[in-house]
Amino acid sequence: MIEGFHCPEGDVTFEHCSNCKRECRPRPYLDWLIDNNKDRRNLLSPSMIWSCPRSVLLNQYTDYYVTPDSRYWMFYGTVVHSIMEQWKVEGIREKRINFKLGRFELSGCPDCLISCEGGYELIDFKTTNTVYRRKDSDEIEMKYLLKPEYEGQLAVYAHGLAQNGIKVVRAKLYYFARSSKSYIPCVTVPVEIKPAMVEEAIQRCEFIQSHFDNKTLPPYQDCQKEFNWKCKLYCEVNQFCWEDASQKGEL
Ligand code: SF4
Ligand code: SF4
Repeated sequence: MIEGFHCPEGDVTFEHCSNCKRECRPRPYLDWLIDNNKDRRNLLSPSMIWSCPRSVLLNQYTDYYVTPDSRYWMFYGTVVHSIMEQWKVEGIREKRINFKLGRFELSGCPDCLISCEGGYELIDFKTTNTVYRRKDSDEIEMKYLLKPEYEGQLAVYAHGLAQNGIKVVRAKLYYFARSSKSYIPCVTVPVEIKPAMVEEAIQRCEFIQSHFDNKTLPPYQDCQKEFNWKCKLYCEVNQFCWEDASQKGEL
């Protein structure tokens, strides 16, 4: 889990940072990061199921430090969610649900549900750095927006909501970009609810849980096949992952 900050003071605990007078970044930003990262995460959640299994497990096995800047994406995402809470629309907002996924008990908070013919439309607010245009046309490049992990996350939520008496008939993502260089600043992305992804989610949970029970990691190369794009830039535990893979001769 995250122990604290890697910063001009060295590797420091969150408690140390709370009492530090340097204010290397705005204090409310640092305090917000501390509040939202100091507790241990559950092993499984609707979003973690679709993350790299090695990163989910290393997050449980290791204590590590992050720079305050590396978590700005999380802050920006919460800013967007807070603004969206002011959206004046009839619906169910941020309702926490508990549900079963196979033999696992999960908990989650779908962003927004809007009543529509036959049930509800499930909406998830997402942020991204940039919305790209396709090279060969003026169309939006959807492959960076309609990610399998988001389809999986919404399929799992639809499954959980059904257990809570809420039928999801369709879903979409509302994306908000950070960069002013984005082709357009925000975009709607319809998502098909694929019930088959629920079975895949259960298998992923079983896979992660079995490694957790044995305190092992799945082979590096297997995770690489799916999550190669994350390793260098978006994985906070990559050093631990590479050390382990190197020791086992998997690199
Ligand atoms: S205020 Fe900045 S320099 Fe001081 S401990 Fe916190 S992150 Fe480190
Ligand atoms: S470095 Fe890559 S393979 Fe290793 S934990 Fe991170 S995302 Fe997974």
